[in-house]
Amino acid sequence: MSDIQQELRKTARELLESGEVGYIIGWGKGRFANQTHPIFVKDPAKVDELVWDDYCLSTLAKYTQDDKYPEKKIGICVRGCDSRAVNRLIQDHQLKREDVYLIGIPCSGKLDPETNEPAKKCVECAHRNPVVYDVLLGSPVEEVPQPERFKEVEELEAMTPDERYNYWADVYDKCIRCYACRNVCPACNCRECYTDQYRVGWQGKQNNRAENQIFGITRAYHVGDRCIECGECQRVCPMGLPLMKLNRKMLKDINNLFGAYEAGLDTETKPALGHYETNDVEEFM
Ligand code: SF4
Ligand code: SF4
Ligand code: SF4
Repeated sequence: MSDIQQELRKTARELLESGEVGYIIGWGKGRFANQTHPIFVKDPAKVDELVWDDYCLSTLAKYTQDDKYPEKKIGICVRGCDSRAVNRLIQDHQLKREDVYLIGIPCSGKLDPETNEPAKKCVECAHRNPVVYDVLLGSPVEEVPQPERFKEVEELEAMTPDERYNYWADVYDKCIRCYACRNVCPACNCRECYTDQYRVGWQGKQNNRAENQIFGITRAYHVGDRCIECGECQRVCPMGLPLMKLNRKMLKDINNLFGAYEAGLDTETKPALGHYETNDVEEFM
């Protein structure tokens, strides 16, 4: 058993027994050895269900949204990605810092259960250490700079408009509108998503290219400067669609227009699109 896993279970037991938290959100073992899934542990006698292994892929912060008014603090395991998601939820007023107890875990990256190779989202991760926590298990790991953060976007930008249209048409022809990308995304935290508003009918229910593209583009804009680049949307997409290219196109433009920007590194930096200054770029006006 890894030292971190042992420490995690010990910390969880202490937090539950002392009543500091009402429950802990962490990872539990799936049906197969190379799977984990998010679990909620309330009973101190069940802390041994918590695991920390190569397959703890799910980003956990979104699950706090199922409990908007917790009786006690929610204990939650946070690596770099989870902690950025927590910060972003706090900035969106969807989570209160005082409602969570953050168990920080430095992360060396996880494996894709299908290939046993490093998961794409982790290969591209620039913040492996939690950026905020109440307790830190283990020691910080070395961060891996990501000079090619926008490489895939640049490849798309080098295409002609027709080539780009055909590329995305092909992508969204495959989308089955399962909304897994939205459901897993910590930046997609509206209580009622526009796609579900039947009465006003913002989004048609047909599964065709035009409606799917509207969904993809609208989601990319809504996520915009809130995307913490956890890669979860792309990881869970059952059709294997390259959704990070769209998210990073938004982020690349934001970086070009408003300066260096990464979401969720703290709660003080104003989100690039969440405020305006009179000297903002406005060539489109
Ligand atoms: S995205 Fe980063 S912090 Fe999250 S699991 Fe992968 S390497 Fe760890
Ligand atoms: S997860 Fe993939 S298939 Fe499902 S709605 Fe999102 S883009 Fe479409
Ligand atoms: S859009 Fe994707 S990468 Fe960005 S925060 Fe949401 S799930 Fe994570």
